[in-house]
Amino acid sequence: MDGELRPWDDSKLHVGCEAVNRGLNVYEGLKGYWQANGSFGIVSIRRHYERLRRSARLLHIPCDATYEHYESAVFQLVSAQAHPDRDMWARTTLFVVEGHWGEGTIADLVVTAYHQNKQPPAPIRLGVSTWRRSVDVALPARIKTSTNYQVARMARVEGRALGCQEMVLLNHWGRVAECTGACVLMVREGTVYTPPATEGALESITLDLIESLANSMGIPFVRRPIDRTELLVADEIGICGTLAELALARSIEGLPLSEESPLLSALQKRYLEAVKGIVPHPAIELSMLPESVGVAPSFSDPGWRRTK
Ligand code: PMP
Repeated sequence: MDGELRPWDDSKLHVGCEAVNRGLNVYEGLKGYWQANGSFGIVSIRRHYERLRRSARLLHIPCDATYEHYESAVFQLVSAQAHPDRDMWARTTLFVVEGHWGEGTIADLVVTAYHQNKQPPAPIRLGVSTWRRSVDVALPARIKTSTNYQVARMARVEGRALGCQEMVLLNHWGRVAECTGACVLMVREGTVYTPPATEGALESITLDLIESLANSMGIPFVRRPIDRTELLVADEIGICGTLAELALARSIEGLPLSEESPLLSALQKRYLEAVKGIVPHPAIELSMLPESVGVAPSFSDPGWRRTK
């Protein structure tokens, strides 16, 4: 926070800033895995940085941090927090800490990191929410900002009462947009389908990686609009995202799905092999942490402050 490694309890935002009053921020979630060779690799950092910049541009939030600052901030925190038995998820958030209605906007890049279980994702019960993804001219799904997750939160609350771990959000036209924190994959007759981002989904990095894996494995992969009823008659359904990885659905709106899921299981296995460095794939870029993992480093100044 503000270019410094700080204890959790000392990481504070002012109650009067736009990040608090209007929920003004853009963010990225990054996943890091212990690698087969004992090093620690973070998936697609550069792509996350680029998407953060695009989100920031759309919300008129200045992003002074260069890629090098961004990578160094993530490395520093992850190095300090890494534990041999746990993978990690890091959230990089650009909070608007000064300014008013777009004037004098100053943002702070804040990184927080969380330990994660190493187990592959368990199959989930998936529902379809009565809440909808907003349209591009209201709250664009392309912008990864916390305010975009208010409807996702309502859908999760709705889903919990139904025993569902994730919920599909339909778009304004009643077609599949995405889940609350992941994209939707569906298999029909040997082809994997997913809706394009223009249906109201985040431009997912994991989806691109899985498409590349599918291409290498000779699995047909098509982006096209998906009707709600297609989900109900699909052969297999899965969800994918940085944190969700590739999780299989075992039911959709209470209707059971086959436990086999041969195509999505194969893609899940291949994805996890690639991100853990067991069987690398050229589409999956891993940035390896410098040596000092697990030791709070006496790190050098990252060269970036929120006020200059
Ligand atoms: N949609 C939403 C709403 C998400 O929060 C996420 C997770 N970032 C995704 C899709 C998947 O995106 P990615 O693969 O880049 O993590």
